[in-house]
Amino acid sequence: MSEYGAKQQKFQVYYNGEFHDPASGGWFETTDPYSGEAWGLIPKCDKRDVNAAMAAAQKAFEGEWSQFNAFQREKMLNRVADIIEDNIERLAKIEMADNGRLFMDAQMQIQHTADCFRYFAGWANKIEGHLTSSELPGAFSYTQYEPRGVVAALSPWNSPLVLTLKKVATALAAGNTVVAKPSEFTSGSVLEFCKLWNQLGFPPGVFNVLTGFGQDVGDPLVSHPDMKYVGFTGGNVGGLAVYKAAASNLIPVHLELGGKSANIVFPDAEMDKAIPGAAKAIMASSGQTCVAGSRLLLQEDMHDEFVEKLLEEMKTYKMGNPADPATQYGPITTRPQFELILDKIEIAKNQGGRCVLGGKPWEHPDAGGAQQFIEPTVFVDVTNDMRIAQEEVFGPVLSVIRYKDEEDAIKIANGTRFGLAAGLWTTNLQRAMRMSRRLQAGTVWLNNYRIFSVTNPFGGHKDSGVGYESGLEGIKEFMQKKSVYIW
Ligand code: NAD
Repeated sequence: MSEYGAKQQKFQVYYNGEFHDPASGGWFETTDPYSGEAWGLIPKCDKRDVNAAMAAAQKAFEGEWSQFNAFQREKMLNRVADIIEDNIERLAKIEMADNGRLFMDAQMQIQHTADCFRYFAGWANKIEGHLTSSELPGAFSYTQYEPRGVVAALSPWNSPLVLTLKKVATALAAGNTVVAKPSEFTSGSVLEFCKLWNQLGFPPGVFNVLTGFGQDVGDPLVSHPDMKYVGFTGGNVGGLAVYKAAASNLIPVHLELGGKSANIVFPDAEMDKAIPGAAKAIMASSGQTCVAGSRLLLQEDMHDEFVEKLLEEMKTYKMGNPADPATQYGPITTRPQFELILDKIEIAKNQGGRCVLGGKPWEHPDAGGAQQFIEPTVFVDVTNDMRIAQEEVFGPVLSVIRYKDEEDAIKIANGTRFGLAAGLWTTNLQRAMRMSRRLQAGTVWLNNYRIFSVTNPFGGHKDSGVGYESGLEGIKEFMQKKSVYIW
C-alpha cells in the first residue's frame, strides 16, 4: 500500500455523469515527485473521448442545465463548495502525491478552491444587463448576458485542482457546461474530485473531465465544432498552440501564461519585511509559480547588504518531505522540469551570472526516493539582457539585478516580453503610486508579494496572457452579450 491509498490506483475519466475507461484502452503512470513512486494510472484519452464528452456537454447545455435558473445554479455551486470543504484532506493528499506540493499548502489551496465556488455561486444571479437609450423615438432597448455554451478548461501541473476548478466554477455560474482537461502530469486530484461531484445530483454532462496529452485531447477539444470558449492556463508554447486552434475555430479564449516578474526593493523599504518577502517570492512552491518574483531589482548602494541578508534568510528554509508540517520547500514536480531548471542554471553560469547560492540538485537522504530537489539558487551580477533574466525558469532560481534610480528600475522591470506581476517595496506612497502606474504587469503588490483574492481580476499583460480570470471580469469572459430592441 502506498501512503496515499491503494497501490497504483487506476482512475477513469468522467463524462455524461458516468465514469469511463478511455477509448484507447490505454493508461499512463503518474508519479510522486517526492517518493518517486508511480502511484496512479491516468486514462490516455483521444479524439473519440473528446467527441463523446462534447456530445454529453452539448446535450446538457441545450437540455436539463438550461432549465436551472440562476438561483438554482447558485444553490448547486454552494453544494460543490461544501463537498470540497468536507474532503480537503483527501484531495490534498492526492495533490501532494501528484504535484509534490506541501500538504499544508495543498490544504490551503483546496480551501481557496471551495471559496471560488462560493464566490461565483454568488455572482450567478447578479449578472445584469442594462437599459440603453435609443435615438429612435418610442424604441426600447436593453442588453443581456448569456452563457456561451460548452467551454473548455485547460490547466497546468503546478496548481492542478484550483486552476482547473476555478474555471469550472466561473463557467457553471455563468450557465455554461464544461469539459476540463488537467495536465498530463497531475490529473489525479481532479479525477478524484469527479467522485465527489458525482454525489451532488447535477444533470449528466454539466461537468466532464478528460485526461491525456495536449495534442491528443487539448487540441481536438479546442478545435471541436461545438466548443464555444476556452479558458487556458499554461506555458507560452501550449498557449500559442491553443490560441491558433481557437482562431481556426473562431472562438474566444483567455490565456493565463508565463512570467518573469520583477520584485523591486527601494532603499526606503522596511527591510524586515522586504527581505523575507523577496525570499518567499521565489521560494514558494519551489519557484514553480507563474508569478514567482524571479528578478529581484536592488538599488546599487543597498545591493550587497541586502543580498547578504537574503541569503541568510533563504538558508533557513527547511527542505524535505512535503507531508511533514515542518517542511517549507518541496521537490520539483516533474523530471523534465527538473532537467530544464538545471539547463537554465548552466546557461546562466556560462553567460556570466555569479551563482552565490545553490545552483545544483539537493542530494540528501531527506530528498526522498525521487531525489528531485534543486537547492534554492541565487545569481548576482545578472544583467537584464541575459537569458536567465529574460526566460521563465519556473523553478527556485533568483536573478538579482542592480539598478541606479527609479527610471532605471522601471526600464529593467518592463524590459521583458512578459507582464504578469511585479512587487514594490517602499514606504514612499507617491513613489508606489507612480511606479505601479508605469509597471507593465497585470498584478502589482506593494510591500507584499503573492497574495491573491478571487474577487480581483487576474491576467497578464504583454506575452503573459490574454483576458482575465476571477472577479466580475472573470465571469463576464464566460458569457456573451446580446442587444435587444423593441419598437
Ligand atoms: P503547458 O502549456 O505545457 O500545459 C497546460 C495545459 O495545456 C495542459 O493541460 C496541456 O496538456 C495542455 N496543452 C499543451 N499543449 C497543448 C496543445 N497544443 N493543444 C491543447 N492543449 C495543450 O503548461 P505546463 O508546463 O503544464 O505549466 C507551466 C506553465 O504554466 C508555466 O509557463 C507557468 O508560468 C504557466 N502558468 C501560468 C499561470 C497564470 O495564471 N498565468 C498559472 C500557473 C501556471
